[in-house]
Amino acid sequence: MGFLDSLKGLFGGAGTASSGGYYIYVRCNRCGEALQTRVNLQNDLSESDAGGYMVNKTLVGSGRCFERIEVHLEFNPARQLVSREISGGEFITAQEYDQYWAQSGSPAPRVTR
Ligand SMILES: [Zn+2]
Repeated sequence: MGFLDSLKGLFGGAGTASSGGYYIYVRCNRCGEALQTRVNLQNDLSESDAGGYMVNKTLVGSGRCFERIEVHLEFNPARQLVSREISGGEFITAQEYDQYWAQSGSPAPRVTR
């Protein structure tokens, strides 16, 4: 163990706790399909009028219906979620998302991480 090893410990490898990803899980109002998307807190956010950040995401299901689910998220300057709105669907939890796909018999579509 030397100087280089401690540098590595400082900058590399040890976990990805701050990878900056925020996952959104929604259910389509029309067909009930559960969808997932990821917001990259480093790249996807735009500055909002309120002095924080915001992002708009559009989710479309796997082809069963063509409902577009619009999600609007607001973040404070520390990039913490402060409010969220949705149209065309409703927010669900990661657990509900997994349950939906566990019952559907087909593999859940995963977003690229
Ligand atoms: Zn749908």
